[in-house]
Amino acid sequence: MEPAAPAIPGAIDFTVPPRLQELLGRVRAYVAEDVLPAEREVADPTDLLASWPVVEGLRDRARERGIFTPHLPEEWGGLGIGVLGMSLISQVCGVSGLASLGLHAMAPDEGNMHILLHAGSPGQLERWLRPLAEGRIRSCFAMTEPDVASSDPLNLETTALRDGDEYVLNGRKWFITGAEGAAFSIVVARTGEPDLKHRAYSLIIVPCDTPGWSVVRDPGIIGAHFPGGHPEIELREVRVPVENLLGEEGAGFRIAQVRLAAGRLAHAMRWIGVAQRALDLTAQRMLERRTFGRELARHQALQFFLADSAMDLYASRLMVLHTAWKVEQGLPHRQEVAMAKTFVSEAFGRVMDRAVQVFGSHGIATDEPIARWYADARAARIYDGASEVHRMVIARELLELAAQGGSTAGACGDLG
Ligand SMILES: Cc1cc2nc3c(=O)[nH]c(=O)nc-3n(C[C@H](O)[C@H](O)[C@H](O)COP(=O)(O)OP(=O)(O)OC[C@H]3O[C@@H](n4cnc5c(N)ncnc54)[C@H](O)[C@@H]3O)c2cc1C
Repeated sequence: MEPAAPAIPGAIDFTVPPRLQELLGRVRAYVAEDVLPAEREVADPTDLLASWPVVEGLRDRARERGIFTPHLPEEWGGLGIGVLGMSLISQVCGVSGLASLGLHAMAPDEGNMHILLHAGSPGQLERWLRPLAEGRIRSCFAMTEPDVASSDPLNLETTALRDGDEYVLNGRKWFITGAEGAAFSIVVARTGEPDLKHRAYSLIIVPCDTPGWSVVRDPGIIGAHFPGGHPEIELREVRVPVENLLGEEGAGFRIAQVRLAAGRLAHAMRWIGVAQRALDLTAQRMLERRTFGRELARHQALQFFLADSAMDLYASRLMVLHTAWKVEQGLPHRQEVAMAKTFVSEAFGRVMDRAVQVFGSHGIATDEPIARWYADARAARIYDGASEVHRMVIARELLELAAQGGSTAGACGDLG
């Protein structure tokens, strides 16, 4: 008999490189041995600022394990891990709201570090990135405004007008994560005439102790309240030196793009991590609890819940990792980021909804994590771009291809 022809080697390799596997092992050990036990020290998991010493302790442990700020280049104290590696790290960290904070690889600080690295002048890097990277200060990113629908960035009304060697900022922002107690904010403000459209907006560093910057109120929200909350900010005649402009005037949205892909994929992988933890608890619960003479696990309707959640998680993982791979290869990835962010945030919601149902009334008790994660999942469909806005972008790209008369596969994550 003829020997079988050797298989054509596949170009797709899902192997995690040894160096990254070793690092993931360290992150897993940190989560299991440091983070999960530390959860018991947090008095109120929805108010982590009140338990900030717990986060500081975890940061010390992360430094000792050599995994602090893994996203930063080595010269800034990090490990130079790219988007793909960070996605895998974020998945491990997703199981606990404390884990990424402890690594100091969490929005908004993580995104601001990327922005500063990308666009900061040497003076801005020393003044702001150095203490931020070392975890000595916190920061926030202020774009959304209460008075206008901020999904459409051209609506934004906060202005920064040039007056001699200063910018004078006026406006209102809200849902500014981490603003309470932050040392500085990167503020999106209009510096040009509206007819410049996107080029009318700039990014300006505003120290939060500048006269005229004030936290008006911090709305309570459902789900986890990030350290420093999500407050409303008033900027009234806030004067900062022109050296606080990041990059060029009018380049605000172009610069802000640098944080989007990495930030959205890291969020998506954290959602996968927490959804996986919820699914693990759900499956355990089904094995232990009995109705009508048998375990919940033996009722087919509930088995289908598990299967649907497993498929949601598998599809989510593949989408995020494929998108991260495209980012690292320098390939176009805007469409994939939009699809991954939208799909995973909604899959997270479906997994949590099934978990609540299986847990019954216990599933909506706020002293248990399931209800808290369920509430967290709801916000995921709004921040970092609402699902509908991403769908608008996804459909636009698809229709452009259709209008060219060819296949739309290129807008659907085509693998070639
Ligand atoms: C937990 C959390 C943290 C946040 N952190 C920050 C932060 O740190 N900094 C910051 O600047 N902002 C932050 N935000 C704000 C967030 O980015 C905005 O809420 C989001 O961009 C939507 O803007 P909006 O609330 O003004 O909604 P709007 O623009 O008023 O839109 C409302 C709804 O209209 C729908 N919609 C909008 N456009 C379309 C369309 N074209 N087609 C169909 N439907 C549409 C969507 O369903 C959308 O949810 C945070 C939000 C949350 C929930």
